[in-house]
Parts: sequence; structure tokens; C-alpha cells
Amino acid sequence: MYIIMLGAPGTGKGTIGNEICKKYNLVHLATGDIFRDEMKRKTELGMKAEEYISKGELVPDSVTIKMVEGKLDKLDNVLLDGFPRTIPQAEALNEYLNKTNKKITAVINLNVPDEDIIKRTSSRVICSNKDCGASYNTIFMPPKVEGICDICGSPLIKRKDDNPETIKERLQVYYKNTKPLIEFYEKMGLLESIYINIYSETTKEDTTKKAVEIIEKRK
Ligand SMILES: [Zn+2]
Repeated sequence: MYIIMLGAPGTGKGTIGNEICKKYNLVHLATGDIFRDEMKRKTELGMKAEEYISKGELVPDSVTIKMVEGKLDKLDNVLLDGFPRTIPQAEALNEYLNKTNKKITAVINLNVPDEDIIKRTSSRVICSNKDCGASYNTIFMPPKVEGICDICGSPLIKRKDDNPETIKERLQVYYKNTKPLIEFYEKMGLLESIYINIYSETTKEDTTKKAVEIIEKRK
């Protein structure tokens, strides 16, 4: 089973992805993790990726595609998170799947209104103790004592880039890059959008349930 997750930063894509992986026993393949792993092991592709990342440049599609394919060769049940990110990547993935006789079960697109993403992300606070790293939300998941980590008692801080302006910029970039992908998978008949309104109490469980219904229908 191959599931592709799409969703802007702050939609809860990682969380919902994890739930789907648990339910269907899928490997959660996040592009960021693959990069870090290859760079740590100093593989040829990892060193190449590092060259670009250290200069603050985007890793070229050719490098990313080879890395992901290297992982997919060993896996039959995967949830892809952060890949494909461009049309050439999506085309390369199609070609690879055709060649290996695998197919995409569904492309699940999490759709959350911008205002909700901005509100949720700008109310996020994290534990200042790096060894703990717990994450809270002053609106949705407040700590027991304001400003203090439940787990280790350290002060809670805001991440520098969790402010409305930066989040808005991040969303613009995401939509610009992802719109063509959404159209691409829509044409292939694979796209399934889940609309989430976090203020009408759409919970993690509700969204996971919808995702599972989609997968059951298509598998
Ligand atoms: Zn803590």
C-alpha cells in the first residue's frame, strides 16, 4: 500500500500520518528524515544533498528522487510525507511505480483554513529543555501550569518562526508549489481531500477516521 499525504505545515499532517501508519502497519517515510539519515551515514547521495543544504539551496529533484527510490526498493507498505513536492518528482514516482508494478492507493490532502493554521501555529509553545522537547498549544493543549512543562518543569518558549507573518509566508510558498501537484493527482483520480475545521472540534480521531474510510474504499 502506498499512501501520499499532502497538507500545509500546521495541518497536523505528521500526526494523522502517524495514526494511519499505526493502523495499517505502514512505514512513515518523511523526506526530511531520509535526508538526515543519508547525510549521517555519509552516503554518496547524502554528501551531495549536504552540499546544497549547507549553501541554503534546495536539493535538486534528481538527488531527492534517487534517495526516495532507494528506500522504496525495500518497502511495500509506505506512507510518503513530504514527497513528491514537485511535478518532476511526481512523474518520477509514477515511472518508478509502473516499473516495479506498484500503485498509489490514495493521495490524502488535509485542507485547513489559513486562519486556523495561523492561530494554531502561533499558539504553539515548546519546552526550553532540549532533552525534553515537549510541545504544547496554549489554545488546544495547554500545559497544567501556564508557561511550565508538565513533564520536566522547565519554562516553555515560543519558536522564533512561529509568528503570523512567517507562517503566512510559509503557507504562500506551500500553496504555490503544491497546487500543480493537487491538479496532477486529481487528474489521475487519486486525490481525496479532507476538510478540517479545528474550531468546530474536528479532532485527531475524526480526521483519522475519515482517512481510514478513504483507504478502505480504495484499497
Ligand atoms: Zn520539558
